[in-house]
Order: sequence, then C-alpha cells, then structure tokens
Amino acid sequence: HAELHLLLSMITPLGWLERVPTYKEQRENIKEKDLGTYGFLGYPVLQSADILIYKADFVPVGEDQVPHVELTREIARRFNLFYGKRTYVFPEPQPLLTPAAKLPGTDGRKMSKSYGNTIMLTDPEPVVRQKLKTMVTDPARVRRSDPGNPDVCPVGDLHKIFSDRATITKVDEGCRSAAIGCIECKSWAADALVNIIKPMQDRRKKYEQNPRLAWDILEAGAARARKVSGTTMDTVRDAMNMSLDYEPPRQDTDDNPVATTANKKNA
Ligand code: SF4
Repeated sequence: HAELHLLLSMITPLGWLERVPTYKEQRENIKEKDLGTYGFLGYPVLQSADILIYKADFVPVGEDQVPHVELTREIARRFNLFYGKRTYVFPEPQPLLTPAAKLPGTDGRKMSKSYGNTIMLTDPEPVVRQKLKTMVTDPARVRRSDPGNPDVCPVGDLHKIFSDRATITKVDEGCRSAAIGCIECKSWAADALVNIIKPMQDRRKKYEQNPRLAWDILEAGAARARKVSGTTMDTVRDAMNMSLDYEPPRQDTDDNPVATTANKKNA
C-alpha cells in the first residue's frame, strides 16, 4: 500500500488534493491541530492506493467520501493513460451508497472522532442514551408546540438509518404536526441504536476474552489481501518499467577478473 501510494503521489497534481472537500472542511473546523502537512493533504492518495491495489469496481462509502472515490477514478484514469499502453491496469471504481448516506454526529456535523461527536459501538447503553439526549435537533422546534422537519434534523437521520418503518412514519408525522416532543423522539432513536449495538457488543466479548481469535481472523485476511495486492504491484511495476530483479555485483576471480581501472592498465 505504501509503495503504490508513493507511485501514485508522483502523478497526482497538487490542485486535485487541495480541492478535496474534506481537506478544506477539516482545516476550517479543526483549529487545535496543525493539519498543514503532506500527510494530511496526501491522505486521499493513500485511500486511492488502498482501493486500487485490490482493483475494486465498487467502494461502500458514506456521502462525504464520494469525492475521494471520484479522486480515485481520476488517478486511475491518469495512471492508465500514462502507463496502460501495454496492459489496462486499474478499473475506475464507483461509490456504493446506502439510502441514508450520511451519519450525523451528536452536534449535527458528520460523525467523526476528530469532532468529538461520536456514538461509539463500544459505548454502554446509558452512555448511548445520554449522548442522544444532548443531540441537536431541528432548530425550528424552539417550543414543544413548534412543528419540525425530520429531514433537516440529525435525530431524524438516525431514525432513517436505524429505526423500523413504523417508527420512521410515527416520527415523520409526529414531528411535522408537533404531536411528539424531541425527548420522546430521541428515546426511540436510542432504543433503535441500542437494539443494533447491543448484539455487536455481546459478540465482541468473545474476542475480548480471547484476542487470539481476532488475530487469527486478521492474519488470514492479511494473507489473502497480500496475494491480491502482490499481483497488482507486479502489474504496476511492469507497466512502469520498474523491475525488482536484482543483479548481484560480479565476483572478482582469477578466471573472471572484474574490469577495474588497475587491472585494465595491467592488461
Ligand atoms: S421530533 Fe425528532 S425529528 Fe423532529 S425535531 Fe425533534 S428530534 Fe428531530
């Protein structure tokens, strides 16, 4: 991955990276860290390498990552144009979005550890419920009697992702007519989240008690991935006329002296 990242970095124009929306957005939002580094700017190229090394046709992503898949397509196209003369190297991957493609955090921005607004899969139930209680809602609902709009409310987004159809309908109608309050609505969202997270946490316990089980899965996956990525890198090096074949220096023997300046003079 690191090698392909380096090679793709050589053909990626700087302007493409500076235009990536998440780069601009995070630089504006995260002031306490120095994000003016190549590592941060070039991170989408590493993501492209992660995708292209497996020649993925589709990538399951959230809405905010779609520009990264677009960038990956542009890099793949450029690589194929420069080096794909003898053999077509990379496919141009497409994003694979779920119906609710954006997961909001508790402050309404996209959920991100950098923003400190996450609900973690490992959060115990009381923590999930507490985080939901403080989640921002449709700003138009100042009073309980004000009608709201679940389409502009982050809690409404959570319902669309995690709640069943009956609850989504109940929220939609109740919010727009002010028949339900936000506290009630948030508690239903918390129920839906806990229903999904709890079984995951139960399954996780087995691996916490025996981490070797998790390592075995990771190692088996890594072995499969290494095989595929190794084949891709052979194709990439071949396309770029780069060879890893190493010719050791000739040994100086009586039968086969190395042609040094000294022994050339003596010849
Ligand atoms: S009722 Fe629910 S969807 Fe409507 S504004 Fe309140 S929290 Fe959001």
